[in-house]
Amino acid sequence: MIKFVSIYKKNQDVKYSFKEAVLNPLGPDNELLIPEIIHKIDHEFISKIDKYNLQEIFLYISNIFLDGSIPYYDLKKIINNSINFPLNLKKLDKNLFCFELFHGPTLAFKDFGARFLAKIISYLNNDCITTIVSATSGDTGSAVADGFYQLKNTQVFLLYPSNKISFIQEKQLTTLNENIHAIEVDGTFDDCQAMLKGILKDKQLTNKYNITTANSINIARILPQVCYYFYAYSLIKDKSKDIVISIPSGNYGNLTAGIMAYKMGLPIKKFIASSNINDVVPIYLRTGNFIPKKSQLTISNAMDVGNPSNFIRIIDLFNYNLDEIKKVINGYSFTDLETIKAIKFVYKKYKYILDPHSSIGFLGLEKYNNIGNYNINNIFFSTAHYSKFKDLIDNYLNIKIEIPERLLKCINKEKKSIKIDTNIASFINAIKKISII
Ligand SMILES: *Cc1c(COP(=O)(O)O)cnc(C)c1O
Repeated sequence: MIKFVSIYKKNQDVKYSFKEAVLNPLGPDNELLIPEIIHKIDHEFISKIDKYNLQEIFLYISNIFLDGSIPYYDLKKIINNSINFPLNLKKLDKNLFCFELFHGPTLAFKDFGARFLAKIISYLNNDCITTIVSATSGDTGSAVADGFYQLKNTQVFLLYPSNKISFIQEKQLTTLNENIHAIEVDGTFDDCQAMLKGILKDKQLTNKYNITTANSINIARILPQVCYYFYAYSLIKDKSKDIVISIPSGNYGNLTAGIMAYKMGLPIKKFIASSNINDVVPIYLRTGNFIPKKSQLTISNAMDVGNPSNFIRIIDLFNYNLDEIKKVINGYSFTDLETIKAIKFVYKKYKYILDPHSSIGFLGLEKYNNIGNYNINNIFFSTAHYSKFKDLIDNYLNIKIEIPERLLKCINKEKKSIKIDTNIASFINAIKKISII
């Protein structure tokens, strides 16, 4: 069975089971957890991977990763009930692919992690009520709200920065109600994330309310993302060529999953950490200094993260060796202007519409190798569907895009939120008032 230990190699003798890690994502020292051992996949499986479908690949990989922590047939049920929407590798050019991760119910890649986590929590903790607390820069909130909505024995508190997420994103998380409570914070995403961390460190509180988080500090959010890197690989026709993957990044959960897939043996030549002007990681990769900053607002708002909390896991997975990290990861940052230009360029050249986040993924590839080399499979992740940013896209491309039915559902419903300041005591009060525990 898999065991988890704290980063920084603290207290290596304190080990958490998968269940403990999911329900207490900040480990014994209030640090993030990483797997003690990352199991390698069979070479045999990789060589035959084309023969498997999406759910079979997810089951195979997560079963190896979890190493028996969840019985095989239970895991199969969880995957079939949560990963029940398609994933598409769209070919834009001979050597350029867009991995469309946005076909889930809320049209963002976070549906993978959120739905899988929801099913895992209700499986592991089926005899008591679990409180899920999450901070969102936009898409986490809607995916988590959707994943947990009406799920028995769960109550969810979503912290989001007031006026800093899009109209549709806000509607998605404030209109469901029932077991989903939207907490509107007069601050930034980093404030929300700091409040979340504060809550998780308060062991008395977390024990009383059975609090865990659906943010990517929770390992069960990361695991399905590890699986889809393998699925992307399975869809590549010419596997004799090197593969480069560019990931539009904010909190670096997606890249962490990629590095775990790499450590399991997935043959990827290079990962590109593509960010907006919140460029803490690209600067770290250049200088070796990891210096959190205040987050700055951009049009790729789900990536407006000034203190990317997952990146330390990546550093730890490479044993704090910057040279080793640099062999595998390049990092670049892009401005809004560049983001808009790339949306226009890709529309003109490939008749394909990118949302602002995916545009940054595309830009990462362009900066890395000009997408000029036909001996490389260049893949960028598309993390959200463009219709979530309708106003921007209509404006940049001078078109009128349709909003899918799924998103329209919530637009006319009434917003309900609880407004608080950035004081953690205000949040605790809100929990006390609303909690059914
Ligand atoms: C959350 C999000 C990201 C950033 O993902 P991380 O795993 O936090 O790096 C990128 N794009 C979209 C659309 C997102 O919702």
